Amino acid sequence: MSTDRPIVTRIAPSPTGYMHIGTARTGLFNWLFARKHGGQFLLRIEDTDRERSTPEATQAILDGMAWLGLDHDGEAVSQFARADRHREVAESMLANGTAYKCFSTQEEIAAFRDAAKAEGRSTLFLSPWRDRTDHPQGAPYVIRLKAPREGQTLIADKVQGDVTIQNATLDDMILLRSDGTPTYMHAVVVDDHDMGVTHVIRGDDHLNNAARQIQVYSANGWEEPIWAHIPLIHGEDGKKLSKRHGATGVMEYAEMGIPAAAMRNYLARLGWSHGDDELFTDAQARDWFDLDGIGKSPARLDMKKLGNVAGWHIARTEDAELVTEITDFLALTGQSSLSQAQKDRLTSAMYCLKDRAKSLPELLDKGRFSLINRPVDMDEKARGALDTVSRRILSELTTQLQNVSWDRDTLEGVLNAAADTRGLKFGKLAAPLRAALAGRSVTPSVFDMMLVIGRDETLGRLTDAASLSD
Ligand code: GLU
Repeated sequence: MSTDRPIVTRIAPSPTGYMHIGTARTGLFNWLFARKHGGQFLLRIEDTDRERSTPEATQAILDGMAWLGLDHDGEAVSQFARADRHREVAESMLANGTAYKCFSTQEEIAAFRDAAKAEGRSTLFLSPWRDRTDHPQGAPYVIRLKAPREGQTLIADKVQGDVTIQNATLDDMILLRSDGTPTYMHAVVVDDHDMGVTHVIRGDDHLNNAARQIQVYSANGWEEPIWAHIPLIHGEDGKKLSKRHGATGVMEYAEMGIPAAAMRNYLARLGWSHGDDELFTDAQARDWFDLDGIGKSPARLDMKKLGNVAGWHIARTEDAELVTEITDFLALTGQSSLSQAQKDRLTSAMYCLKDRAKSLPELLDKGRFSLINRPVDMDEKARGALDTVSRRILSELTTQLQNVSWDRDTLEGVLNAAADTRGLKFGKLAAPLRAALAGRSVTPSVFDMMLVIGRDETLGRLTDAASLSD
């Protein structure tokens, strides 16, 4: 295919009730490729299986795409809705002699196969109707492709290299069933052609289909697209990804609180590479993405790596944007939402939370101190840090902190001096402070917490903790 046409890619998911991460990754590759080249990224829903293709199943695809930020150009195309066009093409192929009506019944085909087996021949069905014109009137028929019987079909694949298929191993596939419905293999080619798709980037489970699809392109005199069949994603043990490896649906990652940007980065690296770069932005991925960087061997899912990628993205995302992502995460997972005041406090806390969090819920958990109200709810360990002596120290601190300037240097000075004069290591003082301020024993630094919640709230929480009984 010549490359002077504007680039058009597509994702063509069959609704299965959820969006598999393999589909998400295929979508991402197509999206990156189109966006890099200023081309178009189209969405076609392959909804010809009417039982599976419920509105909910289709919505699950749209939700997955929307969450991952894969915006497609134009309206989503329904394959089912294009059945008339698929029929029209099959009819025109009949007219130009690249397809034929086959009147063989199921029984005749079965008998053909049985005989072939008994005689040790290939069981590939060779229709007796391929060159016949004495058609029975009114009898049901299918339309078959008059595929070349000799020679080879070449799939010049950008990832797999040249793959040659002997035409003798392919039968005359059905394009239109006897009820007039198109087969999937026929519909895909007609749709890709009509949508102007220049590059078909998809899972290598479709590699064999490409040979048949190329035959349909050439039967119609259509230019075939550039093919890139990408290896499937495997689990950590190197076996084909399945439920037992963990989350296979992209929305499960959303529900774990992986930011979408991190998921894009991680999925991009599952099967594609740019030197040793593991961590990158969308803009970099767009600049760097090319088909040459797609590997030939299956990529393995690695949850630890995903956590590191998520951590990197969280650390470099704007504070307000992280709060928006947390808000979306809470809505997605059906948790109660944050008030505007809580969002404001969380935003101002973000600077001390985001450096080591590997997911949005982790970030939220670290920021809990900024969201809670007095009296602070305490866990057992925190409560254990508030013995009589500690409570007395907290009480003395409330007085000392009343009039000092509320900045980091001053607070450090006051608290370090408070520890020194009592002959305590700072950690000894920090434990009751953490308990009082956050109700937990593991928290951001006490200075950060005090600065974020401010003087009044700090003094209030210290007073509450100081007045607890044994
Ligand atoms: N509908 C196919 C799938 O979901 C994709 C077909 C294609 O990309 O050509 O696997």
